[in-house]
Amino acid sequence: MRRPMVAGNWKMNGTLQSVADLLNALKGEKLPENIDVAVFPSLPHLQLAQQIVQGSRIQLGAQDCAVQLEEGALTGETSAMQLRDVGCDLVLVGHSERRELQSEDDQVICRKFIAAQAAGLTPVLCVGETLAQREQGQAVSTVAAQVDAVIAGAGVQALADAVLAYEPVWAIGTGLTATPEQAQEVHAALREHIAGYDAEIAQQLRILYGGSVKAANAVELFTQKDIDGGLIGGASLKADEFGAICRAA
Ligand code: 13P
Repeated sequence: MRRPMVAGNWKMNGTLQSVADLLNALKGEKLPENIDVAVFPSLPHLQLAQQIVQGSRIQLGAQDCAVQLEEGALTGETSAMQLRDVGCDLVLVGHSERRELQSEDDQVICRKFIAAQAAGLTPVLCVGETLAQREQGQAVSTVAAQVDAVIAGAGVQALADAVLAYEPVWAIGTGLTATPEQAQEVHAALREHIAGYDAEIAQQLRILYGGSVKAANAVELFTQKDIDGGLIGGASLKADEFGAICRAA
């Protein structure tokens, strides 16, 4: 039985004050016992967030980490070790906004994944196809190749301590959610693909769906057989909405 996870990717939003308010409100939400709940604030807010979630069941993650694990002359970078030091449990790796806006390729993402695990963080590997790729019938082959690149560098065993998130690029921040059938189809295909390497790891791997999830569509998505929760963007910035999404998992 896979334990569901609902995670909020706060992206480049918030102030110290709004982050404190949001987390305190979230702590007041009724969150189901049988799921993992995580939030991914911006870097400058991590330490404050850590202090607020400490002792609660909300896990903390960062949105990215450096390729390199050891400290050094890398202006503007933050290592997985530093994220661990400020109390992070998780880190997003390969979000489509970074793949696109920061030109991160599969090799860079694989190195970040490896660095995250070496620092004791759980990587949440994000994969997803563009609309053009979907229209050309390449949704599954695209996400499978993104997973393959990480397996090639980290080994399939590394997926035992990771989370996968399927986020179709065309559904992110657009209000266009994948239908439950479209999402389930890709999730099942991903699991089957990974089972080609290792059936048990594939069976135990949590695959989250992300892309315009809100309280109104969460239940129909999360009840699909291979969808193990969600990675939520915009709707995670409101405690009551995010709480409702958690209760749908
Ligand atoms: P939205 O929920 O705003 O579409 O964002 C999804 C996402 O990118 C989460 O990582």
